[in-house]
Amino acid sequence: MPVAVGAAQPPLSGKGPSLSWTPSLAGTFNPNFSIIIAPRQESRLEKTPAHTISFSDWPPPKYIPAVIDTDAKLAALLPAVKSATWLALDTEADSLHAYPEKLCLIQISTVAGDELIDPLGKINLDPLLEALNAHELIMHGADYDLRLLRKHHEFVPSAIFDTMLAARLLGERQFGLGSLVEKLLGAKLDKASQKADWARRPLTEQMETYARKDTHYLKPLADKLKLGLQQKGRLSWHQESCARLIVETSQPLVVDTDSVWRVKGSSRLGRLALAVLRELWQWREREAVAANRPPFFVLTHEKLVAIAATAAARRPVEPLLPPRLAGSQRRRDGLANAIKTGLQLSTDRHPEFLRPKGHRPTEAEMHRYHELEKRRDARAHKLGIDPTLIASRATLGELASDWDKHAPGLMNWQRELLR
Ligand SMILES: [Zn+2]
Repeated sequence: MPVAVGAAQPPLSGKGPSLSWTPSLAGTFNPNFSIIIAPRQESRLEKTPAHTISFSDWPPPKYIPAVIDTDAKLAALLPAVKSATWLALDTEADSLHAYPEKLCLIQISTVAGDELIDPLGKINLDPLLEALNAHELIMHGADYDLRLLRKHHEFVPSAIFDTMLAARLLGERQFGLGSLVEKLLGAKLDKASQKADWARRPLTEQMETYARKDTHYLKPLADKLKLGLQQKGRLSWHQESCARLIVETSQPLVVDTDSVWRVKGSSRLGRLALAVLRELWQWREREAVAANRPPFFVLTHEKLVAIAATAAARRPVEPLLPPRLAGSQRRRDGLANAIKTGLQLSTDRHPEFLRPKGHRPTEAEMHRYHELEKRRDARAHKLGIDPTLIASRATLGELASDWDKHAPGLMNWQRELLR
């Protein structure tokens, strides 16, 4: 074993054998050493002492990125994925850092260990996605992950077990992964890398560890939750909810060009201000893509609305500009142009106010709404779950106006509870 031994260097720490090594060799320490410490087949979160006997803390194990980022490495992983008896999945994206966002990491846990796959590497993910499709995927709060996988890789799973949905159907009010893992498994998750930029390469050791832990506990967590659902007779509710989530997240994304720019706060604007806002929003989209930064980084929704209102009132908008924007002549010009275009539009081309959806409810409808609400809340209270899991207020309104038309859109378990 090529352990580097220097002559007269002081030991690196008080622990371990009283050998010392040349610091200059530390950075080039034979990587095989670390591979011996952490064999591929084993979870890196549970290093087996057998391999670490006298070297457990000396010299410090060199960190080796172990992300699957080539077709060859993926091919080596596939048999374990294909033959897995259970499989947990998670993904990380860079939506806080880039625009449009990218799928940056796929985490997979099987009985063979926790693995990281790099979709940004030169790698063909098709064999992996195909293998995943043969499994029920254990995921936590799968909504966003599934939308990303669908959008970037046309991947729609055949079945999922969503641990967040399971927890909510059991009445858990703290259903974040960290809370559940702590409450049900007694383990603590580190949140440090939650908002990290997952597009950076190489990942840091801390990010890798965080990412592996995201799927590491999902199987035992799912087992506990499943048992709870069975005991309460709610497993079929959960199955239906998971299937519904797959359908919802696999719909093709239709962008409504007349509403996508109507950001929060825009409903109080006049038509001229709306015309300006629409132009401003489009300018912000172009800027965000050009800068590869999320739109809020260019200008927040709030500012966008305030600038539109101010410009429509023919008052100067400069005092509203954040320093980052005010400091760029190019951006200021772009913004001024967008405002000018909006202000110059003829009145007939100003956006219309959005008509309130539906109609004013009749007295009978109001009555039915309150009856439904009472029933929903009573059921939810008895079951110990959040009433909106059974039906949202909007759904109650639809059901009150036309039960026969809208009830088929409910899941069976929801419909049963509202009868
Ligand atoms: Zn995650």
